[in-house]
Amino acid sequence: MLQQTQVKTVIPFFNKFTKKYKTLESLSKINENQILKMWEGLGYYRRARNLLLSTKLLVNKYNSKLPHTLKEIKKLPGVGDYTANALIGFIYNEPTIAIDGNVKRVFSRYLNQIESKINFEKLITINKKNLFITNRNSDFVEALMEFGALICKPKDPKCSQCCLNKSCRYLKSSNKVEINKRKKIKVMNYNIFCYVNKKKQIGLTKENEIKFLKNFNLPLIKEMKKNSINKDWKFLKNYKNSISNLNLNINLYYKFSKKIPKTYNWYSLNNNKEFIPSFTKRIFNQVSTLF
Ligand code: SF4
Repeated sequence: MLQQTQVKTVIPFFNKFTKKYKTLESLSKINENQILKMWEGLGYYRRARNLLLSTKLLVNKYNSKLPHTLKEIKKLPGVGDYTANALIGFIYNEPTIAIDGNVKRVFSRYLNQIESKINFEKLITINKKNLFITNRNSDFVEALMEFGALICKPKDPKCSQCCLNKSCRYLKSSNKVEINKRKKIKVMNYNIFCYVNKKKQIGLTKENEIKFLKNFNLPLIKEMKKNSINKDWKFLKNYKNSISNLNLNINLYYKFSKKIPKTYNWYSLNNNKEFIPSFTKRIFNQVSTLF
């Protein structure tokens, strides 16, 4: 849940989730729609799909236990180097470091070297003896992440409170390295076409050409080009929506219709048992103003 998402956003979802699914076995028995419904509003739904696939694999193949080796853990869907190292450190107290943006920044600043020039794996292997000096490896993995988030922060690091300030090269240097800037925001323009009917329903399909919205229930979405729009579609409004580093500029169109194309299904604008992503829910809110 914490991948790409802030702790304060995750907490209510995490609490609700762990209250409902207390064991791997109970989670492994649900279907994709159920896990997506629990995840509704948290975004990045691939994480939910991967979590379910991993859970089923752990229950069926590994007797509900996390494997002990990085190689095996990385076979779980959605688990890459970072998550595998975090798991093996947290759970099995192995001497390892989960290298996320925070940890990279700490090392980069401490050495006053540009992040992209550092081979982090090599750096950790060479300095293993100095890094893992206690048996509290699981605390160390977490402490390093927290240190990057709270002390050696992206902006205004708290150097006066830092336990490394006597040896930190960044602090001492008159030629400080540039710290990685945030990803650039990209603006994209879309036309969204909604079939609606008098029963306050909207037509949605999973067939979508937009890469980051693949396999979700959505109306027809097309990139905004200069082509003329069929006059059957009526303009409803323009609004903005941001997803990750994308700012979407959306022109919303609607058409009252009793029929929808074959690949579409009708969904109620008010209540649905099926999972509806937040992106689509925002469209629901705009379209609801028609009634
Ligand atoms: S002294 Fe400052 S820049 Fe260096 S590691 Fe500590 S917080 Fe980061």
